[in-house]
Amino acid sequence: MPKMANEIRVAVVGAGAAGLCALRQLTSQGPSGSGDKLQFVVTCLEKSPRVGGTWYYTNCIGKDEYGLQVHSSMYKNLRTNLPVECMAFPDYPFPEDLPSFVRHKDVQKYLEDYTAHFNLSQYIKFLTIVKWIEPVVDETSQFKFKWAVTTCNVLNQAEEVTQIYEAVLVCNGHYATPKIPNIPGLETFTGQVLHSHDYRTPESFSNKVVVLLGAAASGQDISLELSHVAKVVYLSHHKPQLTTKLPKNLLQKPGIKLISESEVQFLDDSKVRADILLLCTGYYYDYDFLSPGCGIRVDDGRVTPIYQHLINTNYPTMAIVGVCKVIVPFPIFDVQVRYFRSILDGTCILPSKEEMDKHIDEDYRARLQEGLPHRYAHTMGDRQFTYINELADLAKTNRIPDFYSQLYHLTSAMKQKNLMEYKNANFVVDDSGRVKECTERTVV
Ligand code: FAD
Repeated sequence: MPKMANEIRVAVVGAGAAGLCALRQLTSQGPSGSGDKLQFVVTCLEKSPRVGGTWYYTNCIGKDEYGLQVHSSMYKNLRTNLPVECMAFPDYPFPEDLPSFVRHKDVQKYLEDYTAHFNLSQYIKFLTIVKWIEPVVDETSQFKFKWAVTTCNVLNQAEEVTQIYEAVLVCNGHYATPKIPNIPGLETFTGQVLHSHDYRTPESFSNKVVVLLGAAASGQDISLELSHVAKVVYLSHHKPQLTTKLPKNLLQKPGIKLISESEVQFLDDSKVRADILLLCTGYYYDYDFLSPGCGIRVDDGRVTPIYQHLINTNYPTMAIVGVCKVIVPFPIFDVQVRYFRSILDGTCILPSKEEMDKHIDEDYRARLQEGLPHRYAHTMGDRQFTYINELADLAKTNRIPDFYSQLYHLTSAMKQKNLMEYKNANFVVDDSGRVKECTERTVV
């Protein structure tokens, strides 16, 4: 069908939380006065048969029923590490009868309800793998180039189709390609080695000696879960010691120096014999479907050149949503997408490429000067709320309510104080936007 003059065709890669939010925001009315005559014709390309992305839990590890690498890293007993009051998209709350910290199936249901509520399924092509994206010069087009997006159906991967779009939103997630660290002697380990991407249930750890490497969110959570069944769990990490109360059989150790058969030697030269080594060592950003022509580089946890951690400065009609880490993901996706929309509809005028690249460089250098390592290039933590507000203001759209920040900081403090208990808390946000802890609700 020929394209209308006022249409912008947008390809969205992935129907996880970020992709769904992109569909919702691009198919709704924009702020009045902006791009009124413009219409986004949006197609979401999703390789799995359902929405939800990482929240679409599977018992499967390795390859799925279609021969694809399993995408989700969810484990069976996971409860969220953020309360739903600050996980929710700003325009769609979680149901009120849920506790604040919910199970993965509740988040999956929430995303399915969001899809139904905003009638988003009509835009999604399921079982469709994005294989290749490249820019094509087109001097006649508004943006001087377009995107050639090549896909295939999961059930017939040899038959590829290429379609042209004016803009691309990359929403493929970054918790699917496990990072395996270089540990001297790892190949000699006689026990079982697995990455948290493949961790599902604790039963097979019963009565075992486990060394769990990495104390970020998953490492902390899984080590607590395993302490209920394992003989002992050694939580090996480079972070400052966790000062919270821990179970008696969960012991902290520094990083791993060396492995020799069943023996694991730590950096303080203490040694233990272990049955299982569980690597909670994070994931790589993986954009294997972006052609070199897109100009996106991934260098040890840093993605460049993306202005505002989002816009490809080589071709600003491409955005990579959700690159930031240590954030309230759904609200950030929401504002990032609204900002990208405002660029496409002309509400927000981007700075020049030189200025955008300079901004990226300044942001990166400021982090290094604070003593953060290179791989923290997209880690936000306390920075995130200034960042979200700045994007919302640039897009001339609503900021997210203040209680998101209140709750985020409250939860971080509670977690630091009492890792074992903090998920028992429940919160309500009163009419004036103040957060209160309440006790009534329980996990169902
Ligand atoms: P994903 O959910 O990963 O979705 C990406 C989608 O893209 C998938 O559906 C995938 O199939 C599709 N896709 C990828 N490549 C292609 C391709 N080439 N072609 C077609 N489709 C493709 N966040 C919270 O807010 N609270 C929590 O408590 C929390 N806990 C977490 C626990 C774990 C173990 C993990 C891994 C993450 C957790 N997160 C949590 C973060 C979570 O990743 C985000 O909340 C969010 O769901 C990420 O959404 P996304 O859309 O960016 O990516």
